[in-house]
Amino acid sequence: MNRSCCNCGSVNMVKNGRTYYGKARGKCKDCLRQFVFEGQNQGLSQEQKRLIELLLLERISLEGICRVLDIPAYHLYRYMDELYGEVPQDLNAQVACNSESSLGAMSAKAMSCGALSASKATSNGYGWPRTGKAGK
Ligand SMILES: [Zn+2]
Repeated sequence: MNRSCCNCGSVNMVKNGRTYYGKARGKCKDCLRQFVFEGQNQGLSQEQKRLIELLLLERISLEGICRVLDIPAYHLYRYMDELYGEVPQDLNAQVACNSESSLGAMSAKAMSCGALSASKATSNGYGWPRTGKAGK
């Protein structure tokens, strides 16, 4: 259900048989890219999610996190979206994007990942909400 194109992020996917090794193969109807459904393409592993949380706490820029973990930016955004969904209201977390259109908007942002600066990442709603006072 959570499958989306690892190239363009579209969820407009069709199954496309199986590989020699029995892994499900899929094709994106939007960009026509074919790939195998496995681990990374389906989403983030528990380990990657844990690392993302740690890296966000360190206020590392989003593009930095993408580079370190070698994941597509939209995976990061999608996971952050999930995280924000779990954040209680009283933390003052600002969620910049809401529901329906968010994935599209985030894909667009993912395309220009390089333009996201560290300051933007922490001041416009994409930053990890701090739960306590650390340092200043
Ligand atoms: Zn695609």
